[in-house]
Amino acid sequence: MRCPKHPQEALISSQLVDGLQTHSCPTCSGSWLGADDYQTWQVDHVDPDLKLENLVVPITQDVDYQPSRYDNRAGLCPSCGFYLVRGRINLSQTAFFIERCPGCKGMWLDDGEWDLLQTLCLNAYIPLLFTDEWQSRVRVAEAEYRERTATASKLGPDIAEKLFELAKLLEDHPNGDFGVAYLMRRFDK
Ligand SMILES: [Zn+2]
Ligand SMILES: [Zn+2]
Repeated sequence: MRCPKHPQEALISSQLVDGLQTHSCPTCSGSWLGADDYQTWQVDHVDPDLKLENLVVPITQDVDYQPSRYDNRAGLCPSCGFYLVRGRINLSQTAFFIERCPGCKGMWLDDGEWDLLQTLCLNAYIPLLFTDEWQSRVRVAEAEYRERTATASKLGPDIAEKLFELAKLLEDHPNGDFGVAYLMRRFDK
């Protein structure tokens, strides 16, 4: 098997963590996770009751992370030769891609990505990150994040925080719309 990012390099059989067999590249330290090897490890690490909607979209997480310089390079599956599909993980400061083969469902992680996925509590759920449902949750979270950031920059963080709190209180209150109507009347004048 050849490295998707360095086709001249043969991947070396290794262990990413205890119980997880991988093939890694001696040049870029990226790791290839075969679908079966990953599943074998995943079974013991996944929370079977966790629903996709409870997986945290890490957009608000401020992680000090510099994506691998090979992160943007497209690659071929070392096992079956298909182009790897890229799945984007958005953080507040940066974004990175994990890659998966549409054929054999193996996954490629550039150097550092496994540790980061672990920090984000997503490492046992990598295949979910390629689903439409997850991608649409990411879009919603991004839009919300942008709106909150814009609001905070107009009003200042203190008032913005109060506003978000109030919005949440009104949202959760059965008569919340009365509060919204009150505010609108105040601003009509
Ligand atoms: Zn490589
Ligand atoms: Zn493949």
